Amino acid sequence: MIGIDSPCQYCHFAVQDNSYLCPTCLYEHVIRKILTIKPSTAENMQCAYLFPDFLLADMDDFLIKDIEELLGCIYAELWTAIALMSSRIFEQVLKNHMKLNMNIDVDEEVLGGCIKRLEKQGAPANLIVALTELRETRNDAMHANKRFSPADSLELSRKVLSLVASVYNYRPKPDTMITLA
Ligand SMILES: [Zn+2]
Repeated sequence: MIGIDSPCQYCHFAVQDNSYLCPTCLYEHVIRKILTIKPSTAENMQCAYLFPDFLLADMDDFLIKDIEELLGCIYAELWTAIALMSSRIFEQVLKNHMKLNMNIDVDEEVLGGCIKRLEKQGAPANLIVALTELRETRNDAMHANKRFSPADSLELSRKVLSLVASVYNYRPKPDTMITLA
């Protein structure tokens, strides 16, 4: 884990909440690419194209495979599959992050509880808002009678991948980390 005064990996300005990248560089180098994802750009797209090495290093193989399957679904225009894969990645990334980087075991925790715990840990407010919205869409996606339009599916997948970037970019402050007894 990098130190609390670590600068942004790209522009070298100090980063407020111990993130790898400052908000500007996160947008310029990661989110902007994610926002261009659509069927015509997703063919053979890989995680290594979307995420810098220092973010990828914290992601497990399972997540990387899921993201690449999601990109395959986007290329194939499988709209409901896109929504389902996005929902699965959303849940996985949130729980993995809390377990691996914050030392909080949330296997049995419902998503709402996970989000509350992140909020208590001092995660950025805009991240908490995004997580809460995604949780509602994810609940919709799980219903068998819900189908997603192309626009809705693409928007959801871009939001989830942006969330992946934001969550893996955020490093909890060491003094707010919980150590389980
Ligand atoms: Zn920067």
